[in-house]
Amino acid sequence: MTGVRHKPLDARILPRFSGVRTFARLPHTTDLAGADVAVYGIPFDTGTSFRPGQRFGPEAIRSASALLRPYNPAWDVDVVDALSIVDYGDLPVAPGDTIETYRRVEEALAPVVEAGVLPLALGGDHSITLAELRVLSRRHGPLALVQLDAHADTWDEYFGQKFFHGTTFLRAVEEGLLDVGASVQAGMRGTVYGPEDLDVSRGLGFTVLTTDELRDLGPAAYAELVRKRAGERPVFLTFDVDILDPAVAPGTGTPEVGGLATHEALAFLRALRGLRLAGADVVEVSPAYDGPGQQTALAAANVAWELLALHAVSRR
Ligand code: MN
Ligand code: MN
Repeated sequence: MTGVRHKPLDARILPRFSGVRTFARLPHTTDLAGADVAVYGIPFDTGTSFRPGQRFGPEAIRSASALLRPYNPAWDVDVVDALSIVDYGDLPVAPGDTIETYRRVEEALAPVVEAGVLPLALGGDHSITLAELRVLSRRHGPLALVQLDAHADTWDEYFGQKFFHGTTFLRAVEEGLLDVGASVQAGMRGTVYGPEDLDVSRGLGFTVLTTDELRDLGPAAYAELVRKRAGERPVFLTFDVDILDPAVAPGTGTPEVGGLATHEALAFLRALRGLRLAGADVVEVSPAYDGPGQQTALAAANVAWELLALHAVSRR
């Protein structure tokens, strides 16, 4: 250990609206010495099927994250005391080429994972999660997936393409990256092509909860179910911002009405205390469709901060 501890800029000296935007005003560095967590962007949207623009997601989330403060009362944790966090910058992508983007992302992410640093990605569309899972499963073996999303993303193909944001978790299962029996997909809703849509996920072995089922369960029972499935396995938590209702988070690629309010999503995340996170991401923020207060990016920045609080508390 080098004794380096990374801290955000002190807002009592440089106010929150000043300075160059990094995630939560943390130092931008690719030197992992002394880092517990690397937050990084994957600015990619070639995998989208409807509204594009998620390539600008990391930039928008970083901008909204300037307001994040160190102490989180809901978790009773000072996130920056508990964790030494860096903004690792953006990983290299190949616009227009999903497979080449995976290659570049995997190559760039490998040293983070090999260093034992927790990776937290800011998307980017949901196709990018496959590259993260590939790298993480090489170190940890098959991961327990905790997915919060309006869509299961287990389609087989889209216009003949095997890799887009709606096929990520079928590919991940096929590639042996996930322990499906330990994995819970929650938040699915909206119109689909037929009753078999979610049966694909269930047939693969996922536990699947619609938004209505998730609401009916409530945070405590949801978290108990997740903990029962995941056990002590390393968990990858993927938060697709479209789990939120488009009324509160319009800046996303495939909005579905009837989603969670922000406070509900926070309650579900806070109930997950104790999970052993191996990695996480917050995806599908498309700033061009966001509101004048950038509420989707603000929600995503806060969700990322909650995930760091979850990690800080759970590793105590
Ligand atoms: Mn998704
Ligand atoms: Mn989705």
